[in-house]
Amino acid sequence: MAETIFSRIIAGDIPCYRVYEDDRVLAFLDINPLSRGHTLIVPKEAAETLDQLSDESAAAIGRCLPRIARAVLAATGATSYNVLQNNGAAAHQAVAHVHFHLIPKQGDGAGLGMVWRPTDLPAAEGEKLAREVAEKIAD
Ligand code: 5GP
Repeated sequence: MAETIFSRIIAGDIPCYRVYEDDRVLAFLDINPLSRGHTLIVPKEAAETLDQLSDESAAAIGRCLPRIARAVLAATGATSYNVLQNNGAAAHQAVAHVHFHLIPKQGDGAGLGMVWRPTDLPAAEGEKLAREVAEKIAD
């Protein structure tokens, strides 16, 4: 995988405001935060998108994410937050190294803005699609 700004931060070539580190994970403040406490949680493994990440790195992220969330809430006083994880340019991924955004929602409205356009799921489509995905997981 090509070098990215995050692989250079993980290597220590570029500084960051680090909040957490273990063998598999580094978390640091986003340089252009949407709100106070906006934190990036990054696996050290060089994977571009979540579907390419190993089970071991995924588990390591899952283990520390709630703990980092509790700490960010305690430090910022926020009580609501979003976890955002973009994959692919069309889905607004700018840095091609897996990362999770933890974005506190602040009282002044600062935080993640969202456009959510729900549609319907007809029963026939639900049954067919769920079966197809379940089969792929089992593969
Ligand atoms: P994406 O759109 O890929 O999900 O988000 C990438 C995030 O990385 C952005 O929120 C951006 O502000 C942050 N970012 C980009 N370059 C740097 C950097 O050099 N240092 C830090 N701390 N954050 C960065």
